[in-house]
Amino acid sequence: MANENLRFLVVMAHPHDFTHVAGTCGIHAKMGDSITWVSMTSGRMTHNEKLADELQKPIAQQDKSIVEQTPESYAAEKAAELKDVAAQFGVSEVEILEFTDKPFVVERQPQSIEVIRELILKTRPHIILTQSPYISGPHGLVPSTNNDHTETAVAVMEAKLLAQLPRYGQKIAPYTVPATFFPGVYFDHTQWDFAVDVSEFFENRVTAEAMYKSQGHDEQYARRRVGLKLGSDGVTAGVPYAEGFVQEKFQTVPHIQLSDYTLKKGTESRKDQINNIAGQPKT
Ligand SMILES: [Zn+2]
Repeated sequence: MANENLRFLVVMAHPHDFTHVAGTCGIHAKMGDSITWVSMTSGRMTHNEKLADELQKPIAQQDKSIVEQTPESYAAEKAAELKDVAAQFGVSEVEILEFTDKPFVVERQPQSIEVIRELILKTRPHIILTQSPYISGPHGLVPSTNNDHTETAVAVMEAKLLAQLPRYGQKIAPYTVPATFFPGVYFDHTQWDFAVDVSEFFENRVTAEAMYKSQGHDEQYARRRVGLKLGSDGVTAGVPYAEGFVQEKFQTVPHIQLSDYTLKKGTESRKDQINNIAGQPKT
C-alpha cells in the first residue's frame, strides 16, 4: 500500500529535543505530510547556560538583563526560538505545554498523560516520534537524576494506551497509533532499526542548532556539533548525514522490502560507497 499523506505527532520534553528528528520532519513536511511538534515543557529550567554563568560572577558584575529576566520571559524567548527552528523544517504546528521541567515527573504531573491522550485523539497521528522510554545509564544502571526525556516517553506510552480504550461519554472514537519511533540518539548504532538520509537538511540542522541562543549556542558550536553527530551517524548509514531511529514494534509487511539505499549495495563500486559518505558524485 502506498502511503497516503502521513500525520506525525512529535512529543519531546524540551524545545531543543526536536532537533534529533528535525531533518526527517523536514523531508516529510516537503512530501506534504503533516507534522505537529509538542514540547511537554518550556524548558525554562533546562540549559539556562547564560544564567548559570552570570551567577558565577560577583553580584556587582552580573548582567542585570540576564539575572533579572523573569522565568516567564525566558520561557517566551525559548518558545519563539522553537517556532523559528520548526520553520526551518517546514513545521508550523508547534505547541508548548505548561508542565514544569527539571524535573518533569509523570507521577507528580499525571495530568500530562491525559493531555497527550487528548492530543492523540485530536490529531490521530499515523506516526509518533518521542523520546526513548528505555531507562539506561552507564553500565546499565538507572540514572541517579530524574530524566525528563524518559518521563516524557512514559507519559506518551501511557497516553497511547488510554487513547485506544473506550470511555463512557466519550465524544470521539478511540484511536490506536499505528507506529511509534524513537530517535536514534538515545541508542547506539547497533540498536537502530533504520536511518533516514537527511543530507538535504544538513544546513537547516546547523542553522537550527545555532538558533538556540537562549542556551548559548552559536554558529561555530552548531556546525561542529551537528557535523560530528550527523556525520558520524551518516558514516554508519553510508550517506553524508543521517538521523537514526528505533521502532517500538516490528511492522507487518506484505513481503520483504528493501530501500534503494540497501539494494544498491549489491552493485555499486567500493569507490561509490565511499563517495556516498563523502557526498561526492558517483565515479
Ligand atoms: Zn531535552
